[in-house]
Amino acid sequence: MASTSSTPVARASAERIAELHESLSEIRAKVQNASPSRQPTLVAVSKYKPASDVLACVEDGQLDFGENYVQELVDKAAQLPQEIRWHFIGTLQSNKAKVLASIPNLYAIQTVTSTKAATALNKYISSDRATPLNILLQVNTSGEENKSGLPPLTSSTTSPDETELTKLAKHIISECPRLRLQGLMTIGSLAESLASVEKPNHDFETLVETRTALEALLKEWFSPDKWGANGKLLLSMGMSSDFEAALKSGSDIARVGTGIFGSRLKKEEIKST
Ligand SMILES: *Cc1c(COP(=O)(O)O)cnc(C)c1O
Repeated sequence: MASTSSTPVARASAERIAELHESLSEIRAKVQNASPSRQPTLVAVSKYKPASDVLACVEDGQLDFGENYVQELVDKAAQLPQEIRWHFIGTLQSNKAKVLASIPNLYAIQTVTSTKAATALNKYISSDRATPLNILLQVNTSGEENKSGLPPLTSSTTSPDETELTKLAKHIISECPRLRLQGLMTIGSLAESLASVEKPNHDFETLVETRTALEALLKEWFSPDKWGANGKLLLSMGMSSDFEAALKSGSDIARVGTGIFGSRLKKEEIKST
């Protein structure tokens, strides 16, 4: 297949590059401090930020990036180095599965909540991909109506083996050979995030509890080589305001935007520029 050469990405100014490298090293140090005995993945959330910012981070050794909007991800992936591992962290619509699946270096989709979306992704993922596409199931740990995600599994869940979350995990493992169930993702409530400086974040604890319950079920049904990292589900939790608390609660994947790239314009502000 002929590779199309795209226009090279413009370079950020020397000042911007220095600023990004500085914030990246600060965040890396905080990640290290919050989880000294582990090596969690830092996903740099680059939504609304120019490709030149992403490139400056790549040149500093950052390879995991998160994006929320399908078209923005498609555009950036086409211009930026193939070695990048893209994580889709936005609301997933099944009708966008085809275009997402066409991105060769899409590494993970962290926001799967339906068998319909999983089936569509499995259908459109190219058979010449070397590895399956990693899937994380989004869990609404705070139960807020404005947050997407499936209900968690807790001690008060009746018939955990019949919940939507468990059925979706089962569906991916048994019916979607081009997908790999990698773990669980949550956002959590702002109130818990603000309070988690002083006390454990209840939403993060709920995700930990959900993982324990789901792993116990999956172990009964499938051999450990079929799911997670050899039978361990990873947790994606923690953003700029709470990633240190999340890592202390056992997060494996921190998603940090503002802390690396600075504040973002709001959608309305972008439209009017
Ligand atoms: C935007 C976003 C982030 C990053 O948020 P910051 O507060 O800028 O770090 C992380 N996760 C998800 C799901 C997001 O939408």
